[in-house]
Amino acid sequence: MLTNDLLAAWDREAFFHPSTHLAQHARGETPSRIIRTAQGCEIEDRDGTRFLDAFAGLYCVNVGYGRQEIAEAIAAQARELAYYHAYVGHGSEASITLAKMILDRAPAGMSKVYFGLSGSDANETNVKLIWYMNNILGRPEKKKIVSRWRGYHGSGLMTGSLTGLDLFHRKFDLPFAQVLHTEAPYYFRRADPDMSEEDFSAFCAAELEALILREGPDTVAAFIAEPALGTGGLVPPPQGYWATIQAVLAKYDVLLIADEVVTGFGRLGAMWGSEFYGMRPDIITIAKGLTSAYAPLSGSIVSERIWSALERGTDENGAIGHGWTYSAHPVAAAAGVANLRLLDELDLIANVRRVGPVLLGALRSALGGHPNVGEVRGVGLLCAVEFVEDRAARRLFDPARKVGPAIAAAMLRRGVIARAMPQGDIIGFAPPFCLTEDEAERIARVAAEAVAETLGSGVSSA
Ligand code: PLP
Repeated sequence: MLTNDLLAAWDREAFFHPSTHLAQHARGETPSRIIRTAQGCEIEDRDGTRFLDAFAGLYCVNVGYGRQEIAEAIAAQARELAYYHAYVGHGSEASITLAKMILDRAPAGMSKVYFGLSGSDANETNVKLIWYMNNILGRPEKKKIVSRWRGYHGSGLMTGSLTGLDLFHRKFDLPFAQVLHTEAPYYFRRADPDMSEEDFSAFCAAELEALILREGPDTVAAFIAEPALGTGGLVPPPQGYWATIQAVLAKYDVLLIADEVVTGFGRLGAMWGSEFYGMRPDIITIAKGLTSAYAPLSGSIVSERIWSALERGTDENGAIGHGWTYSAHPVAAAAGVANLRLLDELDLIANVRRVGPVLLGALRSALGGHPNVGEVRGVGLLCAVEFVEDRAARRLFDPARKVGPAIAAAMLRRGVIARAMPQGDIIGFAPPFCLTEDEAERIARVAAEAVAETLGSGVSSA
């Protein structure tokens, strides 16, 4: 293929990148990274340099890159029926089949799947449906949504509000008033070092209950949460967290939205994070792993209880006033069908259970003893290493030193992509499910070399 020498210049001139330091990029202070092709767990840039992608894009290419079965399904669908809408009862073979496949795999009590395009718009849908439901049920005051600090639920207006990260609020006039945030289940960063995990879970539940009581239970509609915190730090919940939280939600009739955009379809080694932690959601948000990002598609899986209120609502008010042009897009749905088939045929979730502990164990043995490593944590194929200035005191580095990004950059120079998580000096790993044990060992080896390059054998001051 001919190389277009102007591409890097056009990139700076014409392309508005998401989640990017816009000024630095436009000035050419950060490199343009132009990816050309990918296969398995590896991506290749336009210069032919290959990288082991230990974050599966944005933890979404779960079945791995270059799967011809999905590419063929997309091409065949585009040839046969590139588009028809799903309004007023329309559908395609692919979208109906995919809805059935999702429900067949869903936890008990789920009724229907609404399709969107991104995790963000799926969570917008969820909030709208809950507001609609509570109006239909005659409780119009019950509208507030509780999220957690460090939760990530998207970057729209409502979903950016739900996201509990400062960067997504500051200067955007968010969060909205209907959104409340409560304690993050982040045991490593607990204020009281003497708390056990169970004590800390009870503390989180007590904080949630106090918030609900302060606001008035009649005003609180739902709690939204990732089964294990994702973008906010990749943090599995402390022991007992979900059981105590569920009890509070049940007591005040607060619905649970399980945001499974990252955890759905196997990332934790079970089909659902909800299943893994014994959660009982009323709505499940899905995206990323639904198509392994071969095409943009998301979904909201709603429970029988919500569905029956929605049916009642349309009997009383007419057709539901909610929909996108591209809801249930046939090409994306065909990608989803092929992707879920592949997940089963290759038994990839079993590989998550097998290789996940290898990766976590290798990271622990390579880095666990380093004086600037505060914690190595993980579940399934979702792991993180958190760096601290002082390990005993759990004192964090000054964010201005950008220790996490420096370590990720040192890994990149060695051909392995890890993600410097946006808040904190945390390096994240969420590779494709087809990762091999050798690749897992290589990730840990490269991480250790990068840490040695960046921090030597340990630093405690600037
Ligand atoms: N929810 C969770 C848990 C996510 O991790 C993300 C994205 O990373 C989203 C929602 C938003 O999804 P999208 O970026 O597709 O809008």
